[in-house]
Parts: sequence; C-alpha cells; structure tokens
Amino acid sequence: MQTTFTPEQLRDPDTAEANKILRTCVHCGMCTATCPTFLLLGDELDSPRGRIYLIKDMLENDRPATELEVRHVDRCLSCLSCMTTCPSGVHYMHLVDHARRHIEETYTRPWPERALRAVLARVLPYPAVFRLSLRAAALARPLGRLIPGKGMMAQRMRAMLALAPATLPPHSPMQEAQTHAAEGTRRFRVGILTGCAQKVLDPAINEATIRLLTRMGVEVVITKGQGCCGALTHHMGQHDPAMATARANLRAWGAEIEGQGLDGIVINTSGCGTTIKDYGFMFREEPEAALAARVSALAMDVTEALDKFGYAPSRPAPNLKVAYHSACSLQHGQKITALPKQLLSRAGFTVKEAAEGHICCGSAGTYNLMQPEIAGALRARKLENIGRLKPDLIAAGNIGCMTQLSGDGIPVVHTVELLDWMAGGPKPAKLGA
Ligand code: SF4
Ligand code: SF4
Repeated sequence: MQTTFTPEQLRDPDTAEANKILRTCVHCGMCTATCPTFLLLGDELDSPRGRIYLIKDMLENDRPATELEVRHVDRCLSCLSCMTTCPSGVHYMHLVDHARRHIEETYTRPWPERALRAVLARVLPYPAVFRLSLRAAALARPLGRLIPGKGMMAQRMRAMLALAPATLPPHSPMQEAQTHAAEGTRRFRVGILTGCAQKVLDPAINEATIRLLTRMGVEVVITKGQGCCGALTHHMGQHDPAMATARANLRAWGAEIEGQGLDGIVINTSGCGTTIKDYGFMFREEPEAALAARVSALAMDVTEALDKFGYAPSRPAPNLKVAYHSACSLQHGQKITALPKQLLSRAGFTVKEAAEGHICCGSAGTYNLMQPEIAGALRARKLENIGRLKPDLIAAGNIGCMTQLSGDGIPVVHTVELLDWMAGGPKPAKLGA
C-alpha cells in the first residue's frame, strides 16, 4: 500500500511505525474472511482492511479523528484474528493501538461516554475499588431490566449490571506479595502476574497456578508493587495510565531480575500476557527500553511455563469431555494454539474444539461493556458452537472469556485449574460436587 507521509511526519517514531505497517498491506482482503465484526455486520469499514484505510487517511492527513473512524475502530475487538490470516504480516495490533491513542487525543466523545470510560479506567485496574464496585453492582443488578431505552448508554448500563456476579469469592491471601517456596528441591524461580480484575473475580486461578508450580519445584514470587498490566487502558487508547501501570510492573520485576533472578514471568490471563510480551515494543523509545525487552522475553503463558517445567499428572482423570475455548489473545496474540489442548489431553481429559474456534467470544477486555450488542451476538454464536459438542465443561485461559461464556449452564474453568486438579490439587469448585 502506498503512503504519503511527509519526512517531517516520519520523524515521529509512532508515525514511522504506522507507515511501515501500512506499507506491508497489499489490500488483498483475505483478513475480512476471519474478522468477527465483518462476519456479523458485513460492512467493509468494519473489516480489518476497511479500518486500515480509515486509519491511514486519518494519520496521513494528520487530522483529528471523526465520528466515522471512531465508530469503526471502536467496533474492532482487537481480537487479532486478522493478524493470523494476513499473508503479508501486517502488524494490525500496533496500528490499531496507535489509532486508538490518536482518537483518544484528538476526538471529544459525548460526555456520558467520557464519564463511563473514565470510570472504567479508574475502577477495573484497582482490585480494592473493583471489589467495592462489584458489590454495589450486585445490589443494583435486579434493576438492570428496568433501565429503559434502546440507546447505546442504556445497553451498556444493562450489560454492566448483567455481567456483575451476584456473589464474589472471598479475598485470597495467597495472591498477596510474598514468595511461595518450591516443594522439595527448588528447580526454577519465577515471578507471577496476579493481575487486577481476575484477582477479585476468580482467585482460584492464581491459587491453582501457585499450587501447581510450587509442587513442580518452582519458587513463585509475587513481587510487591506489581498490578494491572496496562492492557485495559491501553486498549481504550489511554496511553499515560497504561504506561504508568506497566512501568510499575517493570520496576517490580526489574528488582527481582537484578536480585535473585527469574527464570520466567508467568501469566495466567492471556490478554495480559499479550500486552506484557509487547512491553518491549511499548517502551522502545523510553528509558526502560532494555528492561522492558527483558521482561517481555521472560513473559510466558502459564501453559508455556507448565510445559517448560515438565507438567505431569499424578492421578487418573475422570471421564470428562472438555470443550477447549482458545482465547483470541492466546491463539492470535501469542500464537499458542496446540499447547493447552496437549496439556489437557496429557492430564487425561477428552478435549474437543468447537467450530469457528478462531472467532472471538465477544469479551475482548471492556468490549462486552462498550459494545454489548455485537458482544452478545458473538457470545451466542460461540455458545451455540460449543453446545453442539455436548461438553461436560469449558476450559479457557483468559478470565475475560470465562466471564463472557459463564451463565449458560455449562461450567467454565481455567485450564490451569484442571491441570492442577489432575496433579494433586482440589477439584475446581465450579464443577460442583
Ligand atoms: S490480509 Fe493483510 S495484506 Fe491483505 S488486506 Fe488484510 S491486512 Fe492487508
Ligand atoms: S482485530 Fe479482530 S475485530 Fe479488529 S479488525 Fe482484526 S479481526 Fe476484525
């Protein structure tokens, strides 16, 4: 694709990067075939190629975003399915991240939307505030159906209340800053991201990860000062808050790397993993560039860690059919596709994958709150495909997908909970007695 950025524009490293990405696109349109929003809406502007053209025009003309770009970029899930399909290697993720930041800096959204986005950015990344908000939302939940109107804000309010769990699991002290010693001889030492929203919604995931790793002779360090990876605000185009939380993580893990050293940084929320593996790029022009590249190189999904450290089950598996749901951030963002299924099979489960496994479930960070109609359609489509397998349960490696797919009668657990169970841990509570 030809571009016409001026030499002056190209002096900005972000614009230079966008130019490089745009030039790799040969506008073949193959990506449209696997784009969930194009699949649902059938509008070229809601396809990767259409969005690339919109972004190109906005950036080349160095002009503020208009309602048109905002509408179509906002509808993008950042699922990255287009990156898997693209034969030219177009780095759509970096391009759309840049576009979202440009939109945030140049476009004034209607005030209710500004307020909602500000609230989300101030609540979701902070576990204590998030917990309080969920308690309040649970109380207001029955009122959700009474919110009148078909407008976007009414839909969003209803979606928010519907997604809030009726009850919350108790706080787990295992997730606080500390070192969990390896059982027996220490073979490895890793840091772990305990996360923000996941920590509140489902502490059983971190507990299973820590139990399983320590049983395998891995010392697990929860560093003081770590928190949200920055993905939630990064995907809303809020550059400074995203960089601030990411920077805090770099400081926390940097101290451990320089101290006793780390053999890896384990992440059990694939959305966060994709962002942390991208810290090297995000900080490429910052003073922390070298440390960020090191942290990205150490980052590993929990399934990569378990494979590296030699996962082995220790008890016979029950006869259960698991529908494995491959989170977009894992399959498209990190290109981890076979490994989780192999580990589940190694643990003795019958593993099946539903049709359209490459299509997003509609969770996508805050997407199911901001675009509830599209997210709801994708959820229904995903659950229909999964339902055809008649599984006993669904396994996924991302809390966002787990929340999105819950509530339809099929228990949803994290892959690591099943692997821990088969290696001596307790049966996941979500599977009932
Ligand atoms: S598949 Fe790749 S090269 Fe083809 S239009 Fe889509 S992004 Fe461009
Ligand atoms: S990231 Fe997903 S929703 Fe966005 S353009 Fe690519 S395939 Fe479509």
